Amino acid sequence: MNQTGSGLLSVVPGITASTALCAIFGSPVGHSLSPVVHNAGFAAAGLDYAYLAFDVPDIAAGLAAARTLRVRGLSITIPHKETVLSLLDEVDPLAVSMGAVNTVVNDGGRLVGYNTDIDGVSGALEAWQVASDGRHLVILGAGGAARAALFGALRRGKPEVVWIVARNPGRAEALASTARSVASAPVHVLPDLAGSGLAQRDALIINATPVGMHPKISGTPVPADLLGARHVVFDLVYNPLMTRLLREAAAAGARVIGGDEMFMRQAFRQFVLWTGQAAPRHAMAEAFRQAITARSVPG
Ligand code: NAP
Repeated sequence: MNQTGSGLLSVVPGITASTALCAIFGSPVGHSLSPVVHNAGFAAAGLDYAYLAFDVPDIAAGLAAARTLRVRGLSITIPHKETVLSLLDEVDPLAVSMGAVNTVVNDGGRLVGYNTDIDGVSGALEAWQVASDGRHLVILGAGGAARAALFGALRRGKPEVVWIVARNPGRAEALASTARSVASAPVHVLPDLAGSGLAQRDALIINATPVGMHPKISGTPVPADLLGARHVVFDLVYNPLMTRLLREAAAAGARVIGGDEMFMRQAFRQFVLWTGQAAPRHAMAEAFRQAITARSVPG
C-alpha cells in the first residue's frame, strides 16, 4: 500500500461500507461539541457508527437528504428545533407539548422526533437530588432551552410558583401560556428580577439565556445580592463550565449545577435512541471535558 493510502486509513480507521451515520443539522454548527462526544461514545462502545456536523440552512432539504442517505440519527439545533416538527413522520408526545425536537431517529425509513433536552434537565436535577416541590421555579429566558428547563423541572415535582423572567414580552407570554397548560401552579411573567423579592424565596433558578457564555464571561443574569443559601442555581451555559453566575451563587451559599450536567445527559439519551445500547458515559464525558478545556484556553 502506498503512503497516501496508509495515511488515510490511519485517519479514518473505523469507517466501513456499512458504517451507520449520525449527524447534527443546524446553522451554524461549527461550535458544536456533539461530534466529539458521540464519536468518543461510538468508539468506546465498539460500534460501527460515525457522527458528522452539517451546516443546514434548509431543514426540509436536509431531512430529504437524510432519508435518501438513510442517516440513522440526527441532532437538530438552532434554528430548526421548532420547524422540524411538521416535517417528521412521528413525534414523541412530550416533544409535541414542548413544541421542539432536538433528536431524530430514522426507524426503517420513518423519521421519529424526540426531545432529549428535557431528559438533560430532569436527569441533572435528579442526579443532584433537587426536586421542584414547594419551590419557586425561576426560569431566565424564554427560548428553546427555557422550554426544556420548564418541562424538565416539572418532571421533578410541583413548584409553588413558576416565574418566567424574559426581556421579550411576546416570547415570555408564549412560554407562560405553555407553563399554565402543564403546571398546576400560578405563573408570573417578569421582564427582569428588579423588585422580585427573589432573595427571600426558596427557589430553583435556571438560567436559559446565553448571558455569561464565552466570550462575554463577565455577564451574569442575576445580581449577586439576590442570591443566597435558599437557592439552587442551575446554569445551562456550559462554556465556561464555571460561569460568573455559578461562582457568585456558590459564594452566597447556594447549591450550583453546571450546564455540562444537562449537555451530557441529553447526549446519553440520544446515544441510547440511535444505538439501542447504554451510553459509555465515562468516555463521552471525558471527551467533552477535554474539548471544553481546550476551547477555554485563551488564544
Ligand atoms: P434562544 O432560543 O435564542 O433563547 C435565548 C433566550 O435568552 C431568549 O429568551 C433571549 O431573549 C434571551 N436572551 C438572549 N440574550 C439575552 C441577554 N443579553 N439578556 C437577557 N436575555 C437574553 O436560545 P436557547 O436555545 O434557548 O439557548 C439559550 C442558552 O441555553 C444557550 O446560549 C446555551 O448557553 C444554553 N443551552 C445549553 C444546553 C445544554 O445542554 N447545557 C442546551 C441548549 C442551550 P430574546 O428572545 O429577547 O432574544
